[in-house]
Amino acid sequence: MITTRFAPSPTGYIHVGNLRTALFNWMIARKAGGTFILRIDDTDPERSKEEYVDAIKEDLEWLGLTWDRVERQSERLDRYAEAADTLRQMGRFYEAWETPTELDLKRKKQLNMGKPPVYDRAALALSEDEKARMRAERGAGVWRFKLDQERIDWTDGILGDISIDAASVSDPVLIRADGQVLYTLASVVDDTEMGVTHVVRGSDHVTNTATQIQIIEALGGSVPSFAHHSLLTGPQGEALSKRLGTLALRDLRAKGVEPMALLSLMARLGSSDPVELRASHDELIEGFDLSHFGAAPTKLDIEDLTPMTARVVQMLESGDVAAELATAGVPEGLRDAYWQAVRGNIETRAGAGDWWNVFAGGAEPVVADEDRDFVAEALGLLGEPPYSAETWGNWTNAVKEATGRKGKQLFMPLRLAVTGRARGPEMADVMPLLQKKPKL
Ligand code: GLU
Repeated sequence: MITTRFAPSPTGYIHVGNLRTALFNWMIARKAGGTFILRIDDTDPERSKEEYVDAIKEDLEWLGLTWDRVERQSERLDRYAEAADTLRQMGRFYEAWETPTELDLKRKKQLNMGKPPVYDRAALALSEDEKARMRAERGAGVWRFKLDQERIDWTDGILGDISIDAASVSDPVLIRADGQVLYTLASVVDDTEMGVTHVVRGSDHVTNTATQIQIIEALGGSVPSFAHHSLLTGPQGEALSKRLGTLALRDLRAKGVEPMALLSLMARLGSSDPVELRASHDELIEGFDLSHFGAAPTKLDIEDLTPMTARVVQMLESGDVAAELATAGVPEGLRDAYWQAVRGNIETRAGAGDWWNVFAGGAEPVVADEDRDFVAEALGLLGEPPYSAETWGNWTNAVKEATGRKGKQLFMPLRLAVTGRARGPEMADVMPLLQKKPKL
């Protein structure tokens, strides 16, 4: 039974980078008919906020990424304490008292000597007396996991065979001096106890994975399949980390981005499969193959979502945008005709009714000075509404005859005068929708 999880920390809104992680894990579970857990990593009481938990759920729901259950780390602290005790009893856990400044100094010294800045395990050498003195002087220390200094190997679902020398990694701190359990331990306990079989996350977690594999093994759990997707960059390859805050899912939603556009892009970007607009979640899942993704940073151009969103909207039927059309004031009897006429010229669902203002007579005619007489003459040849599907053809023929103009010279000034815009739906479709005769 396949089980995956998406494990955001509720310390902010989730963005496109998080979406990639969520989506991959969700697709793996759904493709296999397995379980997808939404795990809220809220062990940090200061930074975790309920408001963000709600927002994460709302964002995932918007995208239709449904979860089978929610787990909260803050409700599982006793489980982590138990695991910590086990590690202590096994001699794999030790207390250390260095302050951040002292650690920093050690690192600088090591770097100066050309050595990797790995924690030197000084605390391991302390005698019981020395420990008691440290405790008396400095209070509780942090708790570090004692890595076995050997190579840690795994076959990564995206990166292939990975081998990391544990001696090049500092013994990770799993519990802070104030007793707060850190993510590395909590995550391992959860993955083990919840039967997580596959973990996909960003490649910034590769070193974590190495240490977590040892912790899982120490606790007697079975090691899930790990895969690390590349990180997103901007279109020119520039780092996106600072801009991710502006790429929050809720901001994209507010801009009118369609869920299927966003999902279609993120489900294939960075893989050898083409990014194509998919019509349904099932289609996304069907063609998804993690092994088609590469290790190279993935370029994301958020502008790609604009045409994809427009295509989603253009495929909708008038009933799908009934609410938007009603808000814009499109009379019920005209909604189908209106939508058929304009949908090729709509970019977002929210803008579905935008053309109605034009048709209702609200458009400012745009007339170039040199076309003023021409447009005046043309309007003189146009009767009063209602107009029909033939109106445009008949009218422009009459204008052509009267003025001798043809082609673009004829059509463009009339389009601008009627709609106030240089581009838009077929004028033959526009005319029957006009509620008022255009005026100069
Ligand atoms: N809360 C962690 C994060 O957001 C989860 C990482 C993981 O998937 O294990 O980075």
